[in-house]
Amino acid sequence: MAINLEAMRAKLNASKNGTSTNKKNDFRWRPSEGDQAIRILPTEDGDPFKEFHFHYNVGKNPGILCPKKNHGEECAICDFASKLWRDGVENDDATLKQEAKKLFVRKRYYSPIIVRGKETEGVKVWSYGKTAYETLLGYVLDPDYGDVTDPETGTDIVLNYDIPGTPGSFPKTTLKPRRRPSILCDEAVGNCDELLESIPEIGGLFDRKTTEEVQALLDDFLSSETSSEKRSSETTKYSTKNASGIDEQFDKFMNNE
Ligand SMILES: [Zn+2]
Repeated sequence: MAINLEAMRAKLNASKNGTSTNKKNDFRWRPSEGDQAIRILPTEDGDPFKEFHFHYNVGKNPGILCPKKNHGEECAICDFASKLWRDGVENDDATLKQEAKKLFVRKRYYSPIIVRGKETEGVKVWSYGKTAYETLLGYVLDPDYGDVTDPETGTDIVLNYDIPGTPGSFPKTTLKPRRRPSILCDEAVGNCDELLESIPEIGGLFDRKTTEEVQALLDDFLSSETSSEKRSSETTKYSTKNASGIDEQFDKFMNNE
């Protein structure tokens, strides 16, 4: 059989990006602009709204799982950000405080879902911010809706994703439950048990870094900052200006709803 060039290309890209070609990426889902109906799936532990803590803006790294907030271990980035903040306060230095804020831990929320009309694509994981999280909890605690994830009596949710055209403004997510409850799976959707069994353990989708690895990422970041400062004769001590525009956009997207 001839080699599958498309697959080879994907493997090469994944290797260069330091990601793996396993199933992890298949779960990733982002809303499209406009309306889409989703169904949040129940998890075995009874909590389908998972909370994780990340550090962004550490060079070109994607969000780094914070060892401290997620796993109760030491975290060099938390320590560094706190120190930066204290220095900023003591010296009344707005720039230092700004840089500290960029490194503070941020929360993201994750739920397993299926997308209506795309059920055959299987379980997806939706990542959202605090506003959407609180809205969802509000619906669950509202007796008019209750457990929106129940396979028999739950409710689909219409997600409107609005991408504003103006620079500096962020995409906005609006959630509205359907007026009537519905079953999770009919014949068109397929085998409900199989679907529910295929829900991934969401924590396992992230690349968990040890305390030492996080320290090394921070060290790399700080030393690259120092050398780029020398080149550009920047004087700002802990500038994070060398983060690319794309990273900044992504961070903004990840940190805001
Ligand atoms: Zn941390």
